[in-house]
Amino acid sequence: METKVKEDNVENLVIIGSGPAGYTAAIYAARANLQPLLVTGFNSGGIPGGQLMTTTFVENYPGFPDGVLGPELMDLMKAQAERWGTNLYESDVISIDTSKSPFELKTLEGSIKSNSIIIATGASANRLGVINEDKFWSKGISACAICDGATPQFRNEELAVIGGGDSACEEAAYLTKYGSKVHLLVRSEKLRASAAMIDRVKANSKIEIHWNTKVEKANGTDWLENVETINSHKGNVEIKVKGLFYAIGHTPNTKFLNNKIELDKKGYIACNSGRPETSIEGIFAAGDVVDSEWRQGVTAAGTGCMAALAAERWLAEKNLSKIIVRETSEPEKTLSSSSFNEEVTNEDTFNLNSEWQKGSYALRKLYHESNKPILVIFSSPSCGPCHVLKPQLKRVIKEFDGAVQGIEIDIDKDQEIAKQAGINGTPTIQLFKDKLLKKQWQGVKQRSEFKEAIQNII
Ligand SMILES: Cc1cc2nc3c(=O)[nH]c(=O)nc-3n(C[C@H](O)[C@H](O)[C@H](O)COP(=O)(O)OP(=O)(O)OC[C@H]3O[C@@H](n4cnc5c(N)ncnc54)[C@H](O)[C@@H]3O)c2cc1C
Repeated sequence: METKVKEDNVENLVIIGSGPAGYTAAIYAARANLQPLLVTGFNSGGIPGGQLMTTTFVENYPGFPDGVLGPELMDLMKAQAERWGTNLYESDVISIDTSKSPFELKTLEGSIKSNSIIIATGASANRLGVINEDKFWSKGISACAICDGATPQFRNEELAVIGGGDSACEEAAYLTKYGSKVHLLVRSEKLRASAAMIDRVKANSKIEIHWNTKVEKANGTDWLENVETINSHKGNVEIKVKGLFYAIGHTPNTKFLNNKIELDKKGYIACNSGRPETSIEGIFAAGDVVDSEWRQGVTAAGTGCMAALAAERWLAEKNLSKIIVRETSEPEKTLSSSSFNEEVTNEDTFNLNSEWQKGSYALRKLYHESNKPILVIFSSPSCGPCHVLKPQLKRVIKEFDGAVQGIEIDIDKDQEIAKQAGINGTPTIQLFKDKLLKKQWQGVKQRSEFKEAIQNII
């Protein structure tokens, strides 16, 4: 959209975090002509888009009577924030100097000055630290059933989920779509999930609940084969599983604040009940990073709205806002839809020179016939990190201006080729040249990593 660019290098408002809280704050602040800068997050506190990028169907977000995929909901929020003039900055904030006016935020790439800040950094999934956790991480152990459940290695195998809350129950139920049986390993003798969720798990004949059970060790050779557990009544019990999924709670992403802003006993940002103001004037907080109790998409969005309105008022009161003058009152409509609805390439649509194609037909053809580097992303529609990575890879490929080709393989649809390629989680990215695998990555990485690897073989 056309806006008048702010003249100095001080932002009106920086929003940290791109979950429902951050994007909602951005939509409100952008519509108030503040042209906020939203730092999306990258590594330290979860992926851009936040926790809903790690779930499948969100059935309780208002406005979607048939449910909406979490990553799709976040794509829509992002598009709405951008449509009204939010600038996105892909990085992690590593510190804030709250003693300066304007505030100074440090990222890995440099520093940003801003008159006000909204912290919406959410919370991250906890790890357990069982023996061999690192060895089998992504080789059977995962913190995201929803992202990795469709992996071929888990199909028709016994799987386990650790935890006793809503996430654990949801993940156990979800995994019954893929595994032959799911063991739910619960530390105590009761579940902490909602009554409806408990009923759902208990009614599912493919789920076996193991009470009073703690996982000690993961075993296997190249892939997880069993877990050693200690049951307070039965002693040591070995359970044969090919997948172990953690669903053991979250830690608020407040470490980077370095205690410069008051936190509560659990490490969440301390705000007065129902208010977005933090202990520092001009800095506001929203979403799960302030909320250890409700922690829902819609509550995060609600507090994001409150934080933006409070920041707008505060900036006006202090006479600090530089209002952006729009050239048109109504920005252009977004044409956003899920990028996963792209057509699969077939015999008729295949093009040897195309920059981006989809599916195993295109992969096989390019593998044999192309003399250019080929970047393949193995993804699945419910995998949030795939939604983050795909546009990044497309940008990388565009920058090489036809010298590199990209292919997307949806592992749900192309299971055979995913199995042949040894894919054990999404997103996995493979770089080929002359039929040789040159490099492989798993998870979201910086664009520069892909560019460097391509440059080395071009
Ligand atoms: C598996 C699962 C299923 C769920 N299902 C539902 C559901 O069906 N319905 C529902 O309403 N809720 C659901 N939730 C809860 C919901 O996802 C959260 O309540 C909501 O996402 C919180 O939003 P948020 O914006 O506060 O934080 P988050 O979504 O956690 O987003 C935090 C953002 O901050 C960024 N960040 C962190 N640290 C930094 C930093 N240092 N610098 C820059 N950026 C940073 C992260 O990258 C991320 O973008 C689910 C959660 C999980 C885990």
